[in-house]
Amino acid sequence: MKKIRQPIIAVLGHVDHGKTTLLDRIRRTNVAGKEAGGITQHIGATEVPIETVKQLAGPLIKLWKGEIKLPGLLFIDTPGHEAFTSLRARGGSLADLAVLIVDVNEGFQPQTIESIEILRKNRTPFIVAANKIDRIKGWKVEEDEPFLVNIKKQDQRAQQELETKLWELIGKFYEMGFNANRFDRVQDFTRELAIIPISAKYGIGVPELLVLIAGLSQKYLEEKLKIEVEGPARGTILEVREELGLGTTIDVIIYDGTLRKDDTIVVGGKDKAIVTKIRALLKPKPLDEIRDPRFRFDQVDEVAAAAGIKIAAPGLEEALAGSPVIAARSEEEVERAKAEILGQIQSVVISTGKV
Ligand code: GDP
Repeated sequence: MKKIRQPIIAVLGHVDHGKTTLLDRIRRTNVAGKEAGGITQHIGATEVPIETVKQLAGPLIKLWKGEIKLPGLLFIDTPGHEAFTSLRARGGSLADLAVLIVDVNEGFQPQTIESIEILRKNRTPFIVAANKIDRIKGWKVEEDEPFLVNIKKQDQRAQQELETKLWELIGKFYEMGFNANRFDRVQDFTRELAIIPISAKYGIGVPELLVLIAGLSQKYLEEKLKIEVEGPARGTILEVREELGLGTTIDVIIYDGTLRKDDTIVVGGKDKAIVTKIRALLKPKPLDEIRDPRFRFDQVDEVAAAAGIKIAAPGLEEALAGSPVIAARSEEEVERAKAEILGQIQSVVISTGKV
């Protein structure tokens, strides 16, 4: 059976430009009441259900004429993560879409440019969040307000200052070969980069940011997001971690298929493919249920893409962040997965000249 999975979203940008603050703000988003489903915490990721996006968006959802069929958005929690930036032999990165965050008062900085280069190399579509607009002199803050509502409350001078700063950004993007524009002035999202002015600290513009991510994913990534949900899982390692009582575990973002407790997995290591049986699939316990820090996880029998999950299994000591995880349900599938992973290790060695 085919289903459309959540797009996987990464937030990138220069240090201190607001990646963590934005993710915190999104994590705290819990629109009026739990009926909307609220936010689900994954391992290494945060899921915003589409109902929450729709509630936040209100009339903004009309920015998109078509219906939004995505189940939600999955944000990778660790900004600028190695799994995102490291080379993947077959091109592309773990993220389906990225948010490049730029402090509008500081403009382009070295890691802004570096992030753009990574996105370009991986052909990852992205949108730009021009952050910290609340720092503009005299800016009137209304928490969680859509930008297009908030901007109308600003006096002429503050509006003008924002315009000037946005034009500076647009100029910098132009120098790097991108046509960028404020999102509400974009005619064609396939040719122009959309810039959304936001305040991550106060949530201004975050409604538009979420709506735009959902709309762009629906419109341009739908085919990529269609997966055979019952198929064997595929994922990428975010982190290799020691856990008290569990040994070495891997935190994995699953982007295809379903991972089951009794699956065999083939995992990328530094210079080999590790074949092992899953011991436990673990997801975080809700925060209010953690009474003893030794028991921070709940076991599950299976997990379908897209999701972040911790895997406990023997032999993971040499697993490598950024590497693939492929589930296999037969000897033949194990062999095929091993060959694929070894092939990737080879091509990374060839293209970078290092292990
Ligand atoms: P990161 O390094 O990109 O993760 O940046 P952080 O999220 O840690 O933010 C760096 C600093 O900028 C922190 O002190 C934040 O409180 C502050 N900051 C982030 N976003 C905003 C914003 O929208 N407005 C204001 N005034 N400060 C912000």
